[in-house]
Amino acid sequence: LASPTFQPSSIASQHPIGKPIGFDLVASVLQSVENLVGSGAGSRKKCTILLTNMLRTILYSNPKDLIPVIYILSNKVAPDYEEAQLGVGDGLVIKAMCESFGKQAKDINHTMAAGDAKDLGEVALLSRNAQKVLMLPPKLTIERVFSEMIAIANDKGKNSQTTKKDRMKKMLVASRGVEAKYIVRMLQAKLRVGIQVPTLMQAIASAFILSPPIKDAPKDSPCAMSDLRKTKSVDLAKVEERITAMEAAVKQAYSEMPNFDKVIGALMEGKDETNLAETCHISLGIPVKPMLAKPSKGIREVAERLTGKRFTGEWKYDGERAQIHVVDRENIFVYSRNSENMTEKYPDVIKVVKECLSETVQSCIIDSELVAFDQTSKKILPFQILSTRGRKNIDIDSIKVNVCLYPFDCMLCNGTPLVTETLETRRKSLWSCLKELEGKVKFAEYRNFDDLVEDDIQAFLNESIEGSCEGLMLKTLVDNASYAPSQRSLNWLKLKKDYLEGLGDSLDVVPIGAYYGKGKRTGSFGAYLLAIYDPENEEYQTICRTGTGFSDEDLQTHHSFFKEKTLQNREFNYNVNDKMVPDVWFEACQVWEIKAADLSISPVHTAALGMKASGKGIALRFPRFLRIRDDKPPEESSGPDQICDMFESQASVGKTEMDDDDM
Ligand code: ATP
Repeated sequence: LASPTFQPSSIASQHPIGKPIGFDLVASVLQSVENLVGSGAGSRKKCTILLTNMLRTILYSNPKDLIPVIYILSNKVAPDYEEAQLGVGDGLVIKAMCESFGKQAKDINHTMAAGDAKDLGEVALLSRNAQKVLMLPPKLTIERVFSEMIAIANDKGKNSQTTKKDRMKKMLVASRGVEAKYIVRMLQAKLRVGIQVPTLMQAIASAFILSPPIKDAPKDSPCAMSDLRKTKSVDLAKVEERITAMEAAVKQAYSEMPNFDKVIGALMEGKDETNLAETCHISLGIPVKPMLAKPSKGIREVAERLTGKRFTGEWKYDGERAQIHVVDRENIFVYSRNSENMTEKYPDVIKVVKECLSETVQSCIIDSELVAFDQTSKKILPFQILSTRGRKNIDIDSIKVNVCLYPFDCMLCNGTPLVTETLETRRKSLWSCLKELEGKVKFAEYRNFDDLVEDDIQAFLNESIEGSCEGLMLKTLVDNASYAPSQRSLNWLKLKKDYLEGLGDSLDVVPIGAYYGKGKRTGSFGAYLLAIYDPENEEYQTICRTGTGFSDEDLQTHHSFFKEKTLQNREFNYNVNDKMVPDVWFEACQVWEIKAADLSISPVHTAALGMKASGKGIALRFPRFLRIRDDKPPEESSGPDQICDMFESQASVGKTEMDDDDM
């Protein structure tokens, strides 16, 4: 429990009520969190407490600073779907550092090469501390830093490099101590302290329970928070229960409305765990992270999980996920799996949705798959064809790769959110929203099953494969059949044709380093070190290294992409055994889909460490590269639970333990 004995009012003297709070508060908490990461059991809990107490202080002294701080902690300047990219190229950051601290680029490179600093942030700190300054500009405030960051992200066009640099310089010149380090890291969009959204949610929930807004206090007024400690008798068990409920409410609110301004805004207005959902629910123009499916190991497992439930099977189309928001008949938007706005990429889809919208429908949100489609042969084309389509400013008359839209869900219709309705109900709404149009719009092919007959599923799976699909999606229809944004749910199971051959699913992994090539691959990378992301421990864990599956073109593409993404040192959250240290480290910035022969217990790889064998991880044997997954961020690569599931499901469980030279 984040300390109820902590009194935000006790440090109010350092942060005068109603006045903008200094950025030093955030920088010092980030430093404490960084010191704690990896310091053993309980460190995550301690981080949450530090964050909670900082948020409470801000709520107490100057609530206006709360939303900027949440953005700063999550290394963003706006919600994901607004595409305001904070990341500034290292070259420009180095120039700003040189001009602010009176250095030359070679000094900076030397400091890093000598191992005196792990990254540019640490160089900034060392440079700042070494600089003799007679008079410093006024102290930085949270408000100022955040507004400069927004301006830098929005600065586009001709002289933007110069204006961005000037803004960075102003902040660096005014920075004190560790502030310089975190400003530089924020500019690089890598805070490197390991605060992930779930930790932040916990801290937000605790802060609002422990220091709730005073009902009816004017919005934004300072000191709008009451202090739990002042309540005469505090029932700690009750408080803990409320924090848990609030955490669930904040998570749910953010999954339906991934926008901190709105979620935190609602909490500041006095919403709590009982009524946050009234304001923060799925809404037009705010894409939600899509619901995802759990892999199944085959028809037998599907049978075990779904017997006794009414469920439906749908063809699993192999294209690009598309969330379509019909705000009104003139404003239609398409968002990717990653909440990226793809409206410009698909003008043809916008046109066809407009044509096919039912007269009774004014607004809706539809989940669907966009698939490359040959209008002459009336056949689905492979995913590879879709990936050749341009991304921006597509002229509707010169589109070469046609697509067909396969809608399969409806999350909102005529202003009413449907996520808590059953799939059976949502499907009816879906059908009422759109009309089919040959070769352009087709509701996902489906079959309902009241009774589970394995042969029927097999027959439907065969049909889907004959129809050029990847397999089936099996979904609960009535019980436990709500739409759960951002969740990989057991209520959706995927049954791919691949599961029927050897090791079922492919995996999504993140290259975090590479080994130089020899022979034919001299001058490029010969093999890559691949990792999965563990959201629990907030770290990357290695699962294999691979040099197979690449065409010559792939090798070239990866080499030119990753040579721009190398790091001087490994990231603090790369859990890599000494025996696997690569020649170069990469930023975790891309996801690859790979396939392997099987999995085995490994003494050197750290994926799912200790989950299946004490002190040992799980590794992939004979992994090969399939393709880049542009639609997934690295934190959504396969996780330890999925690896354990796959490990358990394979026939050879317990037989194989990997040798060191099997790596
Ligand atoms: P995969 O590697 O299988 O595409 P993923 O991690 O992108 O996995 P999953 O939830 O595992 O996502 O698989 C579901 C994906 O299949 C969806 O993201 C969607 O793009 C696609 N899909 C195709 N047809 C359907 C359907 N009928 N219902 C739901 N998703 C479908």
